[in-house]
Amino acid sequence: MVKSLYSVDEESKTIWVFLEQENGVFEGVSLELLSKGRELADQLGWQLIGLLLGHEVGGLADTAFAHGADEVRLADHPLLEHFTIEAYAHVVFQAIMQGKPSVFLTGVTPNGRDLAGRLAVRLRTGLNADCTDLRVEPETGVLVSEVSGFGGGVLALIEMQTHRPQMATVRAGVFLPGEPDFDRQGMVVRLPVDLAEELIHTRVVERVVGQGVDLTQAPVLIAGGRGVEGDFAMLRELAELLGGDVGATRPPVDEGHIERARQIGQTGVICRPKVAVVCGISGAFHFVVGIQEAETVIAINTDPAAPIFDYADYCIVGDVHEVVPALIRELQVKSCKLQVAS
Ligand SMILES: Cc1cc2nc3c(=O)[nH]c(=O)nc-3n(C[C@H](O)[C@H](O)[C@H](O)COP(=O)(O)OP(=O)(O)OC[C@H]3O[C@@H](n4cnc5c(N)ncnc54)[C@H](O)[C@@H]3O)c2cc1C
Repeated sequence: MVKSLYSVDEESKTIWVFLEQENGVFEGVSLELLSKGRELADQLGWQLIGLLLGHEVGGLADTAFAHGADEVRLADHPLLEHFTIEAYAHVVFQAIMQGKPSVFLTGVTPNGRDLAGRLAVRLRTGLNADCTDLRVEPETGVLVSEVSGFGGGVLALIEMQTHRPQMATVRAGVFLPGEPDFDRQGMVVRLPVDLAEELIHTRVVERVVGQGVDLTQAPVLIAGGRGVEGDFAMLRELAELLGGDVGATRPPVDEGHIERARQIGQTGVICRPKVAVVCGISGAFHFVVGIQEAETVIAINTDPAAPIFDYADYCIVGDVHEVVPALIRELQVKSCKLQVAS
């Protein structure tokens, strides 16, 4: 078996989190990983270190401390202002080889995925991708990563006994960010950045920011499946009345009824709404993982034996094309009454 570039004997007793930021704003998943990292580091009595790259982003360190980091290693350089895989992989690799963390965590974002894959190859270590949970063996410091496989039929627990760092990626929404404590303080360690322009073969020509669908923040989620038969206008109306947003299972996305950014589930978004109204959805595992952290699930389905009812708090056996319009009418009457009363 190929050996990793450093061994268990050489590791530092630290957990590192890659702190991904864009224009001076952290990706939410980085803060979620700090929160989980803090919990794991406390169990082991280890240090939690955030690795922050960018240009003039040192001010973000306080937010990292507030979310649990003991220390921030900061690589600040004009060539790190925007993410380019060559520059970031080069600098993170050097930082890891200097600090030799036992555990290195990144978020599942386009950049986080790209970075983690390259680093794992360069470091000759393993990568547990898309983990659904993380824990540690307190006696050994071995990270146990939970990963689902074979379409969700199998939950695998993966450990790396000999390879370091123990790398894992986790999607947004799997862990909670925790309450920040701005009284917490930590240490900023500036890293020397040895970076030449010739190393970077990609150039940021223009930044085009999408229209920002972020279902992870929706307090109320109206999700539609194949049973909705493409009538998402009806679901949008209901979402508007409830102050929520609209998501979908994979079939309506594949059929072009709704944009891909709204797909919920294993290959979509993991959401934690207070209320999820799940319309015409059978309840396949791939979908359910995306809403299982919802506080309340209301399911509407014509089939009384639909698996989604096993996850729902309130089960409505009925046709979405009748139940949803009835809900909309009821809510409209209520909002009229409230307006008249006020
Ligand atoms: C590797 C992999 C990854 C996947 N990732 C995802 C993912 O991220 N997200 C995801 O959603 N899927 C994903 N899938 C697909 C997933 O397995 C299911 O096929 C999908 O979730 C089913 O969507 P559905 O419930 O809308 O459709 P169906 O399973 O066809 O269910 C439709 C439901 O609507 C009900 N219904 C029909 N008409 C009405 C009506 N008029 N009123 C009320 N109810 C009605 C039916 O009784 C049925 O229960 C993935 C699959 C694979 C293999």
